[in-house]
Amino acid sequence: MAKTAEPKTTAAKTAGAKAARGTRTAAETEKIRVALIERRDELKAEHDQTLVDIAELQQHRLTDSAGDDQADTGTKTFEREQEITLANNILERINQVERALERLDEGGYGWCEKCGNAIPVERLAAFPSATLCVTCKQLEERR
Ligand SMILES: [Zn+2]
Repeated sequence: MAKTAEPKTTAAKTAGAKAARGTRTAAETEKIRVALIERRDELKAEHDQTLVDIAELQQHRLTDSAGDDQADTGTKTFEREQEITLANNILERINQVERALERLDEGGYGWCEKCGNAIPVERLAAFPSATLCVTCKQLEERR
């Protein structure tokens, strides 16, 4: 049997090479924009609610604290601090979505930094700051 010099297929894998960014239709871009705006509105509503909660906790602290024992006061202070931390986290996420929307306008948003594939709209809506597609993200985590 003649020995066939089969070319090695490993070279086909462009490991490490930055893939060219794909193209997206205007409709797809619009879909991402809508998803991001929805996400931002949700976060803003959540942020508003957190501010209301903080104000209420503050109010309780001022009005009911006379009858509270020390443990109650401590719990309320802790709750309020937690709410403030939460509000700051939400604000940070709103900023991430705002930045994502800016980058979307420039065409630089929603592409995997590793393989250059389009990151699915669903993933972007759930994680507006995602810079990797699910496959690359999983590979990253496995390292
Ligand atoms: Zn990727």
